[in-house]
Amino acid sequence: MTEIGLFLVLFIALFVGWTMGRKTSTSKNKQPKKDVPTDYFRGLNHLLNDQHTEAIDAFVDSLEVNSDTFDIHLTLGNLFRKKGEIQKAINIHQNLLARPEISPHEMRMVQLELASDFMSAGLLDRAGRLLLNMASASKKNEFHPKILTLLVDLYEFEQSWDKAAQIGAELVKETSAKKEIKRLAHFHCEMAQELQEKEQWKVAYQQYKLALDVDPSCVRASIGAADVLNSQRRYRDAIKELKHAVDQDAEFISLIIPKLKECYRKIWGSGGYIKFLQEQNQKRPTTTVIMALVQHYMETDKEYAEMFLVEQLRAHPTIKGFKELINLQLADSQGYNQQHLVVLFELIEQLADAKHKYQCRQCGFPGHQLHWQCPSCKSWGTVKPIHGLEGE
Ligand SMILES: [Zn+2]
Repeated sequence: MTEIGLFLVLFIALFVGWTMGRKTSTSKNKQPKKDVPTDYFRGLNHLLNDQHTEAIDAFVDSLEVNSDTFDIHLTLGNLFRKKGEIQKAINIHQNLLARPEISPHEMRMVQLELASDFMSAGLLDRAGRLLLNMASASKKNEFHPKILTLLVDLYEFEQSWDKAAQIGAELVKETSAKKEIKRLAHFHCEMAQELQEKEQWKVAYQQYKLALDVDPSCVRASIGAADVLNSQRRYRDAIKELKHAVDQDAEFISLIIPKLKECYRKIWGSGGYIKFLQEQNQKRPTTTVIMALVQHYMETDKEYAEMFLVEQLRAHPTIKGFKELINLQLADSQGYNQQHLVVLFELIEQLADAKHKYQCRQCGFPGHQLHWQCPSCKSWGTVKPIHGLEGE
């Protein structure tokens, strides 16, 4: 809807609200009929002159608060918040709260909106205090899950992961929403990562396990747990975790293969590594797996490695694969041929570097780096490696 369309709808809504308020008050109180308030016409005049903000201000002034107009006031407050005019949203919501005629149910609705206003304005302390008061007072009413959701949003924004996990666990108990389960697991992973940076391996590992208890499909937790085990030189356990991570979500295989290779190298277990790669290539060929196999075949039989690569590229063409093929050809070429291949290699390398490696499956946000929380839509675990010709 265009902005002018939205304002026209509001204008009509306000008029209806005003008429209903008038009707209610005349029927209940038998008071004489009121005229349309002058503020209303002032608002209409501003609207016709394209002065939208002034128009809404005037409409708000013209509208008394009662049970019929309560929703319109609430909608207006939200509209101001969405337009970024937070102070006006706060004023409208605080004005509603000051009215003795609103019911306890309506009061909680306004308080929730006010908490969102404070969060949008960056007044996180005020939002936190308001929500915590509401949470302690409203354990059993229908607003409790919404209050907890806003608190989790707030702690997530502050990156207070322990508090986010604590409230998130309460929320998951109440709603069992998939989205909340997923982000609670990531809060544990965030805590684990911080502990890992301080080399507190044992507690870091515990946090990854808590993440997996909450969400057994959390691939990040398995990869993180494997990193901790690797740091503790528990390579065989790390390999188990990494293989489990592939079962959880094979789309992350490009992240897992280098870690797996390192663990196998440390236990002198290249046989197990190659067997795993071959199995994966049978199930779902990806560039990372094909390249890892080519690298291995190159050590013993260069000709076979090239043949294998060409065969794989026919079935599974990718830019990365062609780059590797040119690279192999370069080693054997001379003179003009070599010069031409160098140009081709550089071109394809630039092309590969320019392509994004990751993309959010929720909003499409592309990037060169893996973010566990999408920088654009803020969803957790939705950014994944790109597959197909330009990716894996
Ligand atoms: Zn996204």
